[in-house]
Amino acid sequence: RNLIPSTHPRKDTLLVREKLVEQMETGAVVPQGLIAHGRGECFDYLLGERTNAFAERSIEAAAALLLLSSYPVISVNGNMAALAPKELVELSKEVHAPLEVNLFYRNEEREKKIGEILRDAGASEVLGVGIDASETIQELFSERRKVSSRGIYRADTVFLAMEDGDRTEALIKLGKKVIAVDLNPLSRTSMTASITIVDNFIRVVPKLTTRVKEMKNMSKDELQRIFQSFNNKDNLKESLKFISERMSQLALSL
Ligand code: ATP
Ligand code: MG
Repeated sequence: RNLIPSTHPRKDTLLVREKLVEQMETGAVVPQGLIAHGRGECFDYLLGERTNAFAERSIEAAAALLLLSSYPVISVNGNMAALAPKELVELSKEVHAPLEVNLFYRNEEREKKIGEILRDAGASEVLGVGIDASETIQELFSERRKVSSRGIYRADTVFLAMEDGDRTEALIKLGKKVIAVDLNPLSRTSMTASITIVDNFIRVVPKLTTRVKEMKNMSKDELQRIFQSFNNKDNLKESLKFISERMSQLALSL
């Protein structure tokens, strides 16, 4: 950690990697999580490592949907807990959405570890740990789909990030709305979610919380109008066009 020179041009990226490695050592993050992060980093590079206009619009739609939902739940995996635990707790409090640990590589030890990280970050309750995840989502097989009867099972909207496409699809099939944060606009998660925020999770969570605070006093009608006028396919198209135009410009400037 202290081997990273403060003048390193990509210091922030390196520090984020260190956080993930540190949490892999505690058991909260799995090695596969590091690979997923690497893929994300690549897309972040292409996107210019900033929250672009299309992402601002999906964040606004997501804030509207969270405020309109009767029971939104935040699904948390190892990477999410390692990267922005305090920010997740803040979002959870702001939209009254419980945090539920939900892992692709499920194991009680890991669930407990992630629950601990969230509690240390200020969460008063964390769902989905151990026997709390006793309800099964029929769309998926075996251990991959154990959820909490107090959480994802009864949620009308699920906020998730760095999630696998199969699982996102299963939630949609059950009639839930899904807000996904995914740097890759081509992933199956991005393609199937109700709202995809093509941006880095680390930048998104605080922005989303701020937006929710700003929009809290809007009428239901106004929130509905914002949510209804959002088209996820169009937004994904914009992100792809943005990347392609940005690459063309960069090629010209070399
Ligand atoms: P899918 O299963 O949806 O087709 P995938 O198999 O390509 O996706 P997964 O490993 O299942 O990828 O999911 C991880 C996703 O999370 C990847 O699309 C990756 O780009 C994205 N990702 C990784 N780190 C971040 C981050 N910090 N912020 C946002 N997205 C991220
Ligand atoms: Mg996948």
